[in-house]
Amino acid sequence: MATPLVSMSPSNAPPPLSLLPDEDWLIESSTSSSARGSSSVAAVTANVEPKRYYDAVKEDVWRCAMTHEVVALEENYTWDIVSLPPGKVVIGSKWVYKIKYNADGKIERHKARLVVLGNKQIEGEDFDETFAPVVKMSTVRGLLSLVSAKGWEVHQMDVHNAFLHGLLGCKPVSTPIEQNHQLASDESPLLKYPSSYRRLVGRLVYLRITHPELCYSIHLLSQFMKAPREGHWDAALRVVRFLKGSPGQDLPEDEIPDLMMLYLDEPDGAGHNYGPDDPRVTNAVSRVDKMIGRAIQGLKKREIFDEVHVILLGDHGMVTNCDKKTIYIDDLADWIKIPADWINAYSPVLAINPRWGKDVENPGEKNAEFVAKMNEALSSGKVENGEFLQVYLKEKLPERLHYSESSRIPPIVGMVGEGILVRQNRTNAHECYGDHRYDNQYFSMRSIFIGHGPRFRRGNKVPSFENVQIYNVVAEILGLQPASNNGSSLFTRNILSHFKKTGEVE
Ligand SMILES: [Zn+2]
Repeated sequence: MATPLVSMSPSNAPPPLSLLPDEDWLIESSTSSSARGSSSVAAVTANVEPKRYYDAVKEDVWRCAMTHEVVALEENYTWDIVSLPPGKVVIGSKWVYKIKYNADGKIERHKARLVVLGNKQIEGEDFDETFAPVVKMSTVRGLLSLVSAKGWEVHQMDVHNAFLHGLLGCKPVSTPIEQNHQLASDESPLLKYPSSYRRLVGRLVYLRITHPELCYSIHLLSQFMKAPREGHWDAALRVVRFLKGSPGQDLPEDEIPDLMMLYLDEPDGAGHNYGPDDPRVTNAVSRVDKMIGRAIQGLKKREIFDEVHVILLGDHGMVTNCDKKTIYIDDLADWIKIPADWINAYSPVLAINPRWGKDVENPGEKNAEFVAKMNEALSSGKVENGEFLQVYLKEKLPERLHYSESSRIPPIVGMVGEGILVRQNRTNAHECYGDHRYDNQYFSMRSIFIGHGPRFRRGNKVPSFENVQIYNVVAEILGLQPASNNGSSLFTRNILSHFKKTGEVE
């Protein structure tokens, strides 16, 4: 069992053994129980970089790594099969196996590279390129470092539970792919809607990380993304059925989080890109709706739906923007010239930070003049759509916006009419899309709120309110003392029940 250790060269030696997760693999002996012994065999071979294909191919992780490499090479059209030109000699190839370690000494992944033999290539120059045809783990890692820097808590959403359980009516199967499958030569009809295949396989791809046994099947399926056939679709569904037979497990009791928050950004993204009335927004909303439905089903299945609180909250509405509803700042030039570098933001809120020279003694006075000139131009009837923009000194903004105290708000602010755009000039003006952040008094900026759980009064409908109120509601449900904020404790009392005597503020 110690043989692989001996064959390790110093250059690929892993970090100090005391840091390895399977510390006892070195002292594992044949006297241990058979179960322990067999797990140790797996640990040894998976923790050592094999020298030869013959050794590597015995191990799942290395087979997976090799499949990954070959698929990447094929997807990048790395080779062509040609006949050997006369007088030329074929150079062979060789597998190089590397274990990548994290900073803490834990194995990050197993990597296999196919390199050309014959000393024609130099490591680090010719063959150290990596291909990431599908998932970039560095992106995931980047997110995690942000989470830790900000002190956030992160929850992994089990992709297989979230997306795949929706494919109902599937009977579990015991292998992810049929033996002796002929997917490469499948001649069933091409799929009418290849995008659904791509989406499904695109989701399965993420499971490679947590389900190495699926590596081969998923790589195989991903080769047909371009022109998937019905046979490929069936094979992808089989992987889903396999997963149903080996579902993820619930967290242990003491690790179940007190609060989980999910932000589903798809409707917002589609709304910005295409405007709120586009069918793609409707589709995005319907997908979110289905996911929420599945989450609720999961709670019901565990018989805890009536014990937990569920809050569904849209953060804002959305309105269509179009070029015909645009105000161009350069159109105000006859009254006042406004340099583009004074403008921090155009719309939905126009934010102007004038940079008066040192010779200007009273910038406050200048700002007031500036605002007066702008409003004069806008109300002159000569600026297109001018009537839809009202400019204020920060401190004169309507109270309900809570802007006047904020240090993030510049001295001059323009309140832009619903769905109106502000641009410097007419260049590049061919757009139609959606936006929010307009004055929240517009109905189009409103969103939804649904609360469910033991503390919510059943069947209670509340008049529309500002989202800031939700903070106090969540704090009350969790039994936390909220930090000072713009919400009111009255609101919380209005929608929640069972106030404890001790928590009352009189
Ligand atoms: Zn948005």
